[in-house]
Amino acid sequence: MIEDLQRCFKAILFDLDGVLIDSMPHHVAAWQRIFAELGIEVPSEILRRSEGEKAKITIRRLAKQHGLDLTETQLDDLINRKRAIYRRSAPKGMRQVAYTLLQTCRTAGLKVAIVTGSVRSNLEWTLSSDELQLFDLVISSEQYQSGKPHPEPYLKAANILGIDPLHCLVIENAPLGIQSAKAAGMTCVAITTTLPPEVLKEADFILTDLDDLLNRKIDFSTVKPGDSQCRT
Ligand SMILES: [Mg+2]
Repeated sequence: MIEDLQRCFKAILFDLDGVLIDSMPHHVAAWQRIFAELGIEVPSEILRRSEGEKAKITIRRLAKQHGLDLTETQLDDLINRKRAIYRRSAPKGMRQVAYTLLQTCRTAGLKVAIVTGSVRSNLEWTLSSDELQLFDLVISSEQYQSGKPHPEPYLKAANILGIDPLHCLVIENAPLGIQSAKAAGMTCVAITTTLPPEVLKEADFILTDLDDLLNRKIDFSTVKPGDSQCRT
């Protein structure tokens, strides 16, 4: 319920892929095609669980596991081609449920931000300028050194917004993003849009999708013992 969010938080930090947009099947298919060209078969769950980290780190790690040591030039080329394949099939625009939650949060006076491992050009390809303008802040991968699961991306957002991490709620769909949010000292809600709840257990709450945040009463005081605002 929005009153719960309003009482406990000053900012809602949204992950992009799998949260605001329905992009993961297209990312996975594009990666699998690139890896197939290298003679490597990568199960979709491995790719979904890698979500959130920078693309270069994912491809380097998975290639290395299969005995391939790629040069920087090869990595850049593969990432560019993966991006082109992704853009041939991926949908544009925010999911309706995300748009509804976002507008409700804005009306309630909460700050809203995107914190993503995606590059800015992908973000701008996916969301229209009208959609991007709905956010107080957008953090893409060029703006930090250490990506998720490091806390830097979420801490950077809190710092720029001028809001204590204790008053930030992160919405994530993948383990590395959850680890990043928790390491930043924030409360994290995971949604099961792309992965089963068993791999999202490090989140404080696991919900089916974003509409549950508005339709269900959630006792945030259970994860914020030091924050009197959330004691009921
Ligand atoms: Mg995600």
